[in-house]
Order: sequence, then structure tokens, then C-alpha cells
Amino acid sequence: MTQGTAVIVNLTEQSWTLHRSYGTYQVRGCAPGEPYALIPLSGTRAVMDLGDKRTLEVPITAREVAQDLCREINADGGEDSFFGVFVAQGERPEDDELTEARRRLAVFYRSMVASADREWERSHSYLFINDVQRRAARSLGLEKEWFYQARETSDCPGCGEKVRAGVAVCKTCGAILDRDKAAKLGLAPVPAVVHAPAVEAAKPAPAPTASAPARR
Ligand SMILES: [Zn+2]
Repeated sequence: MTQGTAVIVNLTEQSWTLHRSYGTYQVRGCAPGEPYALIPLSGTRAVMDLGDKRTLEVPITAREVAQDLCREINADGGEDSFFGVFVAQGERPEDDELTEARRRLAVFYRSMVASADREWERSHSYLFINDVQRRAARSLGLEKEWFYQARETSDCPGCGEKVRAGVAVCKTCGAILDRDKAAKLGLAPVPAVVHAPAVEAAKPAPAPTASAPARR
């Protein structure tokens, strides 16, 4: 491996921007379909202020930079947290390094899901479920009641309430948000003209039958 470089391996799609005293760094996430992202780094220098306008340049090796960035990222979720980034021994991670990192990530994700389960049991509130817990559940392929709110929402143009992406009819005001889908579900007449009169959109329609949680 080239002298003076180090490689961070990121197992997740999450990316980070880190502001350190010696510079600002991006640790990118995997692209879709990529098993992991590789982030090559080189060494740098930190400038220490000694006072009296005297400074001292301290060299920092690439490996020190990489280890510092990984430590910053992985420490972000409390004790024993691990967000799936590590410094490779060589230019590319070996199989055993990947296996060990994936195992640690799964352990951390399972503990995040367990804490979300406990929180949900206690509060039944989406407000107390955080993004890391949702990512953990998604990554482990677990269907969780508390996961729903993480789905994409948009504002209904009819009433301004949050509606889940892809729903045909707003369950609050009855506005038809996707005419084709609503027609297929029998929730709205098949349009005879492209511009239906506005009054039709205001007609109450049955709520979609999807197992959506109660609106909050
Ligand atoms: Zn609405």
C-alpha cells in the first residue's frame, strides 16, 4: 500500500461530514448496490498555536486521520455504538475485516431496535423513535409498528395535513391525490375529462384500506 495513505471502509449508505481541528472531511456512504464505500485519505498537518504569534506544525499520518474520523463517527450513538465505518488494514478490506465489521454493526443495530421497542412500549410515540433506530430496523429487515412514521410524507394540497407518499385519497379531506389509483381502487369515478370540476375532488371518499396508523 502506498506510503502515506489510509482507507476508511463504510458499510452503510449513511454519509458524514466531520469538522476537525485539522480539516473538514467527507465520509461518503455506499451507492445503491455497492457492498461498501472506500474513502482514501492522506496525511495532513495540524497547526498548534503556541501563543506570541508562534505556531507549531504537527504532522498527522493518514492512518491517524482515518482512525480519528472513524472514532468520531462510531462514538456518536453512546457506549459500544458502531456505525459501520472502520480503517482497513490494507488498500481494500479483507474478508475477515468485513465479516467482523458486519457482525458488530448487526449487534449495534439489534440493540438500537431493542431500545426503540422499549421506548414504543412505554410511550407509543413516534417522536421518541430516532433515525438510527429506523435505519437499524430497515437494515435488519424488521417490520416494526414504530417504523411507519419514517415513510415519506407530503402535504395534502386540499387540507395541508400530512399524507403518506403514494396514497390515492386524503383520509382527512377526501381530496383525490392520485386519480388513476383511486379509480382502480373504486374510490373515484374514472375521469371523463382531464380537468374534473373542483367540486368532485371535495366529495368525501372512503379512507384507503391500508393499515396506516391513526393520524397524529
Ligand atoms: Zn387532505
